[in-house]
Amino acid sequence: MSKNIQAIRGMHDILPDRIAIWHRIEDTARQVLASYGYAEIRTPLVEVTELFKRSIGEVTDIVEKEMYSFEDRNGDSLSLRPEGTASCVRAAIEHGLLMQPQRLWYRGPMFRYERPQRGRYRQFHQIGVEAFGLTGPDIDLEIILLTARLWRELGFKRFRLELNTLGDQAERQVYREQLVGYLSGHLDQLDADSQRRLETNPLRILDSKNPQTQQIVADAPTLMDCLGAETRTHFEQICKRLDEAGIGYQINPRLVRGLDYYNRTVFEWITEELGAQGTVCAGGRYDSLVEQLGGRPTPAVGFAMGLERLVELMQLEGQLAESPIDAYFVAVGDKAQAAAPRLTEQLRDALPGLRLLTHCGGGSFKSQFKKADKSGARFALILGEDELARQVIGVKHLREDQEQRELAIDDLAAYLSSARL
Ligand code: ATP
Ligand code: MG
Repeated sequence: MSKNIQAIRGMHDILPDRIAIWHRIEDTARQVLASYGYAEIRTPLVEVTELFKRSIGEVTDIVEKEMYSFEDRNGDSLSLRPEGTASCVRAAIEHGLLMQPQRLWYRGPMFRYERPQRGRYRQFHQIGVEAFGLTGPDIDLEIILLTARLWRELGFKRFRLELNTLGDQAERQVYREQLVGYLSGHLDQLDADSQRRLETNPLRILDSKNPQTQQIVADAPTLMDCLGAETRTHFEQICKRLDEAGIGYQINPRLVRGLDYYNRTVFEWITEELGAQGTVCAGGRYDSLVEQLGGRPTPAVGFAMGLERLVELMQLEGQLAESPIDAYFVAVGDKAQAAAPRLTEQLRDALPGLRLLTHCGGGSFKSQFKKADKSGARFALILGEDELARQVIGVKHLREDQEQRELAIDDLAAYLSSARL
């Protein structure tokens, strides 16, 4: 026998017993985003590779080693999107959306060739937000408030907000030189990756996970000291307004983010409950990206959250899978089975929210009832030849200890509705 084909490593099926948690997160996010006036945008999963090289940066982990790139049949280099911002910016420029401020959001799968481990997959899902045309700091604050509201609605109480500013390009250039100067003095103590990055992307060394490198970095000069008045005020305003809003945060001068395009505000929401991959949401300002991709200069700020990590947290917190159905319709005997479609359609007309599963495939009362019980439904609705002749239906509460009752078929919808399904 041939070997079964399995899903690709790091790419997971989301099975029905988990889907309720996904829906809860996605639906809550959609509502919260709507309540701030954000509009959804959907872009293709595949883009020309050049888009990601130009936006994310040639010497980032993503572009250097994590992209799923391939040649199209006509020889174009295409890539599965590793993140959503580049596509969003591309689409906004292409469709002329940037004539006025835009508040957009997206959701969907992203693809990165990373080492699969807890909280890190090769296909994963994000919900992200991008606000264009607004210089902040009010909009920076808005997207942070929005995420804080989402955590509240989802019941996540222990997320920590870390905040930093990366300054503007010129300030970062000055800082880069100071940092390279300092780190060059400790070259032989840095890990190999960081030694390589000293030439290409020295700021990333600040968030190295290597303990010895971290020790060196602890005494490095900080970017905060290179900031001019304007960027400093921008940052202080955000801090002040977060204080006023009662949202706690920690300033983390080592927070630099993995992508090249950020400037000024960067932030992460972190939880201690997921082990090493504790960042559930990350974002920041990227004022030069639109221009870099050919649009007219447009300030922008955004974030993305990793849904797998939020789903895992909900599971850890004991959110149980909900049954996908309310009522299970049992029909025994030829005439009852023949009548079932009409009756169940009528019920769905009367109660549009009712999740009603009609038994298919016939069988004895006992076997159908067993399936009803296993289904997780609250009610079994039972129609036999005898009930049909008398125009009644048996209703059995499957989750509560109650006698089975009989209702006139015409009264069933009202009964189910009053049982508050
Ligand atoms: P990390 O430092 O964990 O690699 P990142 O800086 O690459 O994160 P972003 O590109 O900013 O992450 O993505 C935003 C969020 O998306 C992350 O905070 C995380 O929750 C989620 N995420 C990123 N990569 C993965 C992945 N490979 N698997 C699952 N979730 C991910
Ligand atoms: Mg990463």
